[in-house]
Amino acid sequence: MNRYGHVIGGVEVDSVDGKRFPTVDPWTRQSWADVALGSAPDAERAVHAARTAFDEGPWPRMSSVERGQILHRIADLIEANGEELGLADTHDMGKPIAQSVGNDIPRSAMNFRFFADHARLATAESYPMGDGFHAYSRYEPAGVVAAIAPWNFPLMMATWKVAPALAWGNTVILKPSEHSPVSGTILGRLALEAGLPPGVLNVVQGFGPSSAGEALTADRRVDRVTFTGESATGRTIARAAGGNLAGVSLELGGKGANIVFDDADLDNAVDWSMRAIFTNTGQVCLAGSRLYVQSGIYPDFLARFVEKSEAMRFGDPKDPATQLGPLSSEAHFKKVSSYLDTVAEDGGKIVTGGRGAGWSVAPTVVTGAGPNARVMREEIFGPVVTLSEFQTEGEAVAFANDTPYGLNAMVFTTDLSRAHRVAALLKAGSVWVNCFFIRDLRAPFGGAGDSGIGREGGAFSREFFTEPKAVIVQL
Ligand code: NAD
Repeated sequence: MNRYGHVIGGVEVDSVDGKRFPTVDPWTRQSWADVALGSAPDAERAVHAARTAFDEGPWPRMSSVERGQILHRIADLIEANGEELGLADTHDMGKPIAQSVGNDIPRSAMNFRFFADHARLATAESYPMGDGFHAYSRYEPAGVVAAIAPWNFPLMMATWKVAPALAWGNTVILKPSEHSPVSGTILGRLALEAGLPPGVLNVVQGFGPSSAGEALTADRRVDRVTFTGESATGRTIARAAGGNLAGVSLELGGKGANIVFDDADLDNAVDWSMRAIFTNTGQVCLAGSRLYVQSGIYPDFLARFVEKSEAMRFGDPKDPATQLGPLSSEAHFKKVSSYLDTVAEDGGKIVTGGRGAGWSVAPTVVTGAGPNARVMREEIFGPVVTLSEFQTEGEAVAFANDTPYGLNAMVFTTDLSRAHRVAALLKAGSVWVNCFFIRDLRAPFGGAGDSGIGREGGAFSREFFTEPKAVIVQL
């Protein structure tokens, strides 16, 4: 059995109490790796290491050029070890290997490269006052960052937090999800191999409540908490971090609306809409889980969408041809499949899909669900999409905005004016027009309402991971 520890203060260690936990591969439904089970004393050790490295170590005092060289080496090592890292995520949570090795690994390396370069090339404001004084801004490292990651894009979400925090001179404690711990430990090892000083990136494994996660968010020596996960967890973490007045960034759940107008390029709209809901077996915060299609093309769109859904290739996530794997765990399978039982109760109909083999749910298309149906209101986080018909542009916008979430939306149209008009009216942190999931790491990323607080990406990450300072000089 493969063994993985915490990475604290530059060494891989077991838990203080020696406890471990198995991580289960949802395809084989067997445990495949054995991981150190962290608790409060391990979190304490990691915070101590990060605090000491910040207060006394070289990292915050290095130039962004020197830091950038090490971060680029980490990116190189992520690419060189892409098979091992991608396979770890695939074993841990069932992501098809074509998506882990093919997408998450290059994106993880890119996170390091982008934020290293962004910090190196950044400029700061200068404010000529014209009366014998001059003011300017400095962006100083914030301190110790706790990065708490989810299981759906284990390495990609971890690096999205760790890379900018490090690039801006902070020290970090990463807590991967208990459902996908392994790639976090490997990342910690690779960072040391790349020359990152001890204590700058610590990885502590464990659970959330009454475990390592909660201990990190409650620790007064932590200056920033960046969290991605469920909205309910986000509320708990915001309370804990708020008690210490630590800065908090929350990237939470979503219920993305996907609006397809009569004038859309139908093939393009169907293809992207499929990706929007079935990528990563629907376990995507940005999933286009509510599809609204204009009446003129509704029957045609539905027929094509169902046909393509039924043609998707389900199977062993380790097979490069697999498009759809199992859900990430037994508990998650139970949660997703429980929504299937609510469809008929709420007046809807499952046109295709339903429970599959093992812990899987087939691509599922629901029609006839009203605006208050549970499948329309709650984040299912699986391969289940609702299709609803609309008549007018105003109606589409009202339907899309009828949700407590505000993470993202998609618009398919060939009318340029409509694209911009509707994008402006949607309550969402990101709007994709005629596409999905394309990212520019300089752009703001995050959500409104139940989808979170704050934005990360480019200058937005700098804002969060630094303490901006004003210096005013008498000339
Ligand atoms: P989760 O909230 O169950 O867990 C996320 C992390 O928080 C895990 O590491 C967990 O151990 C930790 N945690 C749980 N309770 C904690 C506590 N009280 N204190 C400290 N840490 C705690 O979320 P999940 O199931 O891992 O992830 C799925 C969710 O993440 C979905 O809702 C999805 O929409 C969301 N998500 C959002 C984005 C985004 O960018 N907005 C991206 C990916 C996933």
